[in-house]
Amino acid sequence: MQTGPQPADFADVRATNLAVVLRHVRNHAPCSRADIAAATGLNKATVSSLVADLIERRLLRETGLAEHRIGRPATMLVLDGQPYAAIGLAVSADQLTAVAVDLAGEQLLSWRRTFPALASSPGKAVSAIAALASRVAGRVSSQNRQVLGLTVGVPGLVDSDGTVRLAPNLGWRDVDLRADLVHALRDPKYDVAVDNDANLSAMAEHRYGAFVGTSDLVYLTGEVGIGAGVIVDGRLLRGGRGFSGEIGHVQIDPSGPRCPCGRTGCLEAMAGIPAIIRRVLPDAETDGPITDFAPEIDEVVRLARRGDPATVDSLAAVGRHLGHGVAILTNVINPDVVVLGGNFVPLAPWLLPAAEAELAARAIAPDAGGCRIAASTLGSGTAAVGGAARALATVDAGHLPPPPPH
Ligand SMILES: [Zn+2]
Repeated sequence: MQTGPQPADFADVRATNLAVVLRHVRNHAPCSRADIAAATGLNKATVSSLVADLIERRLLRETGLAEHRIGRPATMLVLDGQPYAAIGLAVSADQLTAVAVDLAGEQLLSWRRTFPALASSPGKAVSAIAALASRVAGRVSSQNRQVLGLTVGVPGLVDSDGTVRLAPNLGWRDVDLRADLVHALRDPKYDVAVDNDANLSAMAEHRYGAFVGTSDLVYLTGEVGIGAGVIVDGRLLRGGRGFSGEIGHVQIDPSGPRCPCGRTGCLEAMAGIPAIIRRVLPDAETDGPITDFAPEIDEVVRLARRGDPATVDSLAAVGRHLGHGVAILTNVINPDVVVLGGNFVPLAPWLLPAAEAELAARAIAPDAGGCRIAASTLGSGTAAVGGAARALATVDAGHLPPPPPH
């Protein structure tokens, strides 16, 4: 008769403990085996065995000796960035951004391609995304790194199968992006995922940003639309079907302008980047719709720096709308910080004071429940970095790549 745990249970416990050690080193590197034992409560022999396994899998490496507080010098451990990397790729209305990030968090490359997604068919977009992804994968492989995964971020509703149900700002409906990409990439060895761009940006902010580790954090995308990536208790909030965070389509003003979603007065119709450009630079669209926002945003910043009264007033009005949206989030989920990303970042000095005042006026909790509004410091490409972070997070969660062959 068999007693005690089955082998599968041992394997599960081992995988969980490997992940515990890996996460500890990620957060505290460089650290010694004794540090890991003391912090995790695992005994020293177990830690030594787990560390040996992780070194064998080339997820950790030793890095010299450090003088310990007491006793002999200890060998220190860090994440091994060399063997693996993850690819993140973000689709926005005017460009594709791709990054590769290694396990240690080092950004290996960051590429940007102008791509007018709204003017292209989904089929053309799939070809362009696949072409860029395979070039990045080729570069990563040429550095003798194994690709752990590719995640593509899209500004829209993405279901758990990786189908884009609706992306008004790309003109997409029911695009089976994950399956189409797997096909276009000819069944790659790595995992392919598709996720909402705001969700991925929130993951990037939570893993690498100025508010790293903050357990209740919201990221607002500053692209054509305004999406919210919501982290509650340290975990991404997805909702029942994965469609949470559509703060951009909360109505701010019933008599406001028409939104690409077909409704009126949505937050993004009032405070999205095209709305800001239209307000400050009314002539910008005379040659047709804008396909690249960077020059217009530069011009808005230039006018604001000069103190142009109409520009400063417009940005304050937009800031109030953003503050209104943040107050709704604050009243429902009480975040510690709301991070403004994308094209909001260069405009933040003129948006933040009005946004914070509006938040304070509309939030029911004293001191806005402790919520701060801040500009992202991660730079452009945050959603792409988050795409890479998503694949790296699966390693942290215990889905370790198989040990490399000898
Ligand atoms: Zn809308």
